[in-house]
Amino acid sequence: MSKDCIFCKIIKGEIPSAKIYEDDKILAFLDINPIKPGHTLVIPKVHRSDLLAAENQDLVELIKIIKRIAPAAVAGVGADGFNVGLNDGSAAGQIVFHLHFHIIPRFKDDNLKLWSGRPYEAGAAEIVAEKIKKQL
Ligand code: AMP
Ligand code: ZN
Repeated sequence: MSKDCIFCKIIKGEIPSAKIYEDDKILAFLDINPIKPGHTLVIPKVHRSDLLAAENQDLVELIKIIKRIAPAAVAGVGADGFNVGLNDGSAAGQIVFHLHFHIIPRFKDDNLKLWSGRPYEAGAAEIVAEKIKKQL
């Protein structure tokens, strides 16, 4: 637990939340500012700031619960699909530094475009791939 962490406060019940699922390791609750109705956050109860700070086994448990909650969220709000997202680091839009996955129900023709892409220049993809592979 981290004293000033808003999600740790939700886990402790100091801040209210609309809970979807809870076990000894994981909590899922509705995002207070949903991108779409049913937008759910899935978090480990242990305080970890981000993905890289989490233990592998905790991530395994999280993705298993995400797999269970996502179709329930879709069915619950009558959606047609879902996005699973994680913002890692402030440059990526992370605001709360307690690891959390977003499950965002999606509706046909909901006009939500999360990212727009642009093709690589000729030969650039190979260079970028090499740079990344060297870091593995
Ligand atoms: P991120 O930008 O990935 O760090 O997302 C943080 C998310 O936490 C945002 O979508 C917020 O709307 C959500 N959030 C912040 N405070 C609360 C809260 N008290 N209850 C539920 N969701 C929250
Ligand atoms: Zn926390």
